[in-house]
Amino acid sequence: MAFTFYNTLGREKQLFKPKDGNNAVGFYGCGPTVYNYAHIGNLRAYVHHDILVRSLRHAGFTVNHVMNITDVGHLSDDADGGDDKMVKTAEERGKSVLEIADFYTQAFFKDTDRLNITRPTVVCKATEHIADMIALIKRIEENGFTYIAGGNLYFDISKFPSYGELALLRLDDLKAGARIQQDENKRNPGDFVLWFTKSKFENQALVWDSPWGKGYPGWHIECSAMSMKYLGENFDIHAGGIDHIPIHHTNEIAQSEAAAGVKPWVNYWLHNEFLVMNDGKISKSKGSFLTLQNLVDEGYDPLDYRYFLLSGHYRSQLQFSFDSLKGAKNSRKSLIDKIKALADKSGTQETEIKEENIIKYIEAFDKAIEDDLSTPRALAVLWGLLKEETASKDALAAVLKMDEVLGLGFKDIIAGKNHDNTEFTQEIEELIAKRAEAKKAKDFTAADNIRQGLKERGIILEDGPAGTVWKHL
Ligand code: AMP
Ligand code: ZN
Repeated sequence: MAFTFYNTLGREKQLFKPKDGNNAVGFYGCGPTVYNYAHIGNLRAYVHHDILVRSLRHAGFTVNHVMNITDVGHLSDDADGGDDKMVKTAEERGKSVLEIADFYTQAFFKDTDRLNITRPTVVCKATEHIADMIALIKRIEENGFTYIAGGNLYFDISKFPSYGELALLRLDDLKAGARIQQDENKRNPGDFVLWFTKSKFENQALVWDSPWGKGYPGWHIECSAMSMKYLGENFDIHAGGIDHIPIHHTNEIAQSEAAAGVKPWVNYWLHNEFLVMNDGKISKSKGSFLTLQNLVDEGYDPLDYRYFLLSGHYRSQLQFSFDSLKGAKNSRKSLIDKIKALADKSGTQETEIKEENIIKYIEAFDKAIEDDLSTPRALAVLWGLLKEETASKDALAAVLKMDEVLGLGFKDIIAGKNHDNTEFTQEIEELIAKRAEAKKAKDFTAADNIRQGLKERGIILEDGPAGTVWKHL
């Protein structure tokens, strides 16, 4: 397969060639800042990373996928302003920063597992890589790109002529104060902190010794240090949401290239557009936002949300609404019905695909994916195949092959595993079982209480010859 990816660096679709021309791809995707649950917008970024990784593996590449966990240094403003997100939450909850980090890291992977997102090959926590960050900062300093002011060590963007290339920023605009100047120690508003020592965060919970004094790293350095540690000083792909282009990724590039003297540090930059609600950005720091669990509580399977995301191209803004999610749920349901019917007719053994008509679908599917990961087109090809009503083993094998990329869990569905096994569904099933037991024991009050409790949550029970079934009101 020959992929073309839209590379933010250069702003064009480019043919993807792994470095060194071999089959191994190094990929770094910026991970979560674990001070709260991931919101459904954040999860769009991770589903995008997953589609990328699955597609490359489907095409025969080996992918080393590295993801960081930010548990230190991320301020509420990416350009060094505001509070430390982790410290603020820890204080509000009366917990330690590491307790908060641990809790939300687990919650994050619970969400990504439920979305069938393949776990990265390497997951690295910022707090466990401080020595790597210090070593990298030392190299940046030795190469003459830093200054100390007010106790902090800054990166001097005026020493790095290609600063802002990724975001098409102009140094002159930055000098004129295009960004809000909040830190008077900065010589240029675009300069950024590599290491904080004396700062406004006197209550910083975690500090480490360093050549610049006791303190903690700026946010951006962790991604440079950890990606280079695990993927080398030049690697293939780096991804994140579009919000990271002007500051976080711009600063990552400046630091990494200043330290290693290698240009480009990363060959392909992929950025996902935002998931939006009511025309606004879904923000974790603004307090109210939707989580995957909220969708589950409304009766949706996490894979309904995955399907919803795949129905949009990752580079287009996607508007979230429960109506659209409902549409996705219905489409996924009819897809499953068709696949189950196909499996019933054709048997489920895996087979080498020989039918030419089916090969054509696989080719069309691969073409869609090769073209900058066009999941909407790929889904359309899958639908086309299922509408053909071919009941062959080859057709089923093709569906499973496509699902290597889509990750909609079809194999499990065919194997009869209930893919609607969200905690919500499990809880309802358990309550239905309890109610049946209560009825058997002639405890009708307890049985009625269960029915009433569910009704208050919008679930109605219907007793029939095949047992009790439940529906949303
Ligand atoms: P954070 O945990 O805030 O560092 O964000 C994690 C990832 O989610 C980053 O790649 C962000 O760029 C991305 N992101 C944040 N908000 C959205 C959104 N509304 N839609 C899509 N991606 C987002
Ligand atoms: Zn990052």
